[in-house]
Amino acid sequence: MTKNDLQSLLNFDRQHIWHPYTSLKNPLPVYAVQSADGVHINLATGERLVDGTSSWWCAIHGYNNPYLNTALQAQMQQMSHIMFGGLTHQPAVALAQKLIEITPQDLDKIFFCDSGSVSVEVAIKMAFQYWLGQGITEKCKLLTLRRGYHGDTFRAMAVCDPENGMHHVFNKVLAKNIFVDAPTTGYHDDLNPSDIEHLENIFKKHHHEVAAFILEPIVQNAGGMKMYPPAYLQKMSVLCNHYNVLLITDEIATGFGRTGTYFGCDHAGISPDILCLGKALTGGTMTLAATLCTTKVAETICRGELGVFMHGPTFMANPLACAVALASIELLEKNNWQQEIKRIESCLKQELTPLSNHKMVREVRVLGAIGVVECRQNIQVGNIQKFFVKNGVWIRPFRNLIYIMPPYISTNEHLTILCNAIKSSLKIETHFV
Ligand SMILES: *Cc1c(COP(=O)(O)O)cnc(C)c1O
Repeated sequence: MTKNDLQSLLNFDRQHIWHPYTSLKNPLPVYAVQSADGVHINLATGERLVDGTSSWWCAIHGYNNPYLNTALQAQMQQMSHIMFGGLTHQPAVALAQKLIEITPQDLDKIFFCDSGSVSVEVAIKMAFQYWLGQGITEKCKLLTLRRGYHGDTFRAMAVCDPENGMHHVFNKVLAKNIFVDAPTTGYHDDLNPSDIEHLENIFKKHHHEVAAFILEPIVQNAGGMKMYPPAYLQKMSVLCNHYNVLLITDEIATGFGRTGTYFGCDHAGISPDILCLGKALTGGTMTLAATLCTTKVAETICRGELGVFMHGPTFMANPLACAVALASIELLEKNNWQQEIKRIESCLKQELTPLSNHKMVREVRVLGAIGVVECRQNIQVGNIQKFFVKNGVWIRPFRNLIYIMPPYISTNEHLTILCNAIKSSLKIETHFV
């Protein structure tokens, strides 16, 4: 691309195209990408960046992976898409079999949809229809944790953290749910008894009006990159059972090995009633999500007045996406992911933990292939992004959080490059607000 072509591309983009969570009036600059391969993102201006984001948790095998590309090409020769109403196909069935096999026990019914937010909508609708199916009409609220993130559609937004999710702005349009203070201790810490007391009190007070508790297991991701004790999740599962509240675990970010176990739930050995998958499901190639539920949930929904589950996206179980999702899971298993995540975890611990003494840093957290440097001040994303690009890495901080969740194929050398860039970035005042 010539310099002029690139400039006109960026100008048009700036004037006409929304980017995630940005203003169209005065957007931060964006960088044009030419291609990506392995752990590298190649900018149109020639820079080759080591990726620390996996494109928001998705590209777990890196980019342009030949095994995934082959699966896409082979499926494309058969059909890229076909409606799922009244028809089925091998890619959907094979993927469903695999997902039922690897997810926590009892989840043996599956609904395919197009994005994480939609899978959350589907999960919530399942929960409401479950109670309606039994003639119970007062269970029409949701319980959730503060600091959570579940997507950008309206029902999903209504269970995102009320402050980060700007609930006051949407006050009149958002469904009213009940928020539990997020757990106050970290993954390796003991449970804080007052966290449990608070949780129990809320269950006691509200269970009759609550259809489900929805949460991100083990790691609260886009809401603050916080990890919490597995025992908290175990307690949650017990309370949900005891108080007749369904448990929905949103594994969209935690799924497929990221936290060191296949799914976040596996840290606690629990099995929810409903589980959401997305993001890394297709290895970062295409958009696809899934909502799994137990036979009990499915049968109760279908016994209801409606007799069916009322949802059916146009691109439901898209064959191309299903085929590449299955290939991505095969690749994960072939690549001995447990060992790779352990290696990444110990490398990130070694590189990042010393930063916890840095004057700009409040806390460093590492779990699985997630490394978080929580700063004392909010970050000037535009400035720090420029610095990272100049230093050959792609990392995208938010609020006061510099974090990486690199592709699983990242070598220790790649991880060191990422961590060194983070280290250096802390030295520059204009990177902070
Ligand atoms: C990203 C994310 C979502 C939303 O997924 P989209 O595909 O962006 O709609 C929901 N829940 C969690 C935990 C996520 O990380």
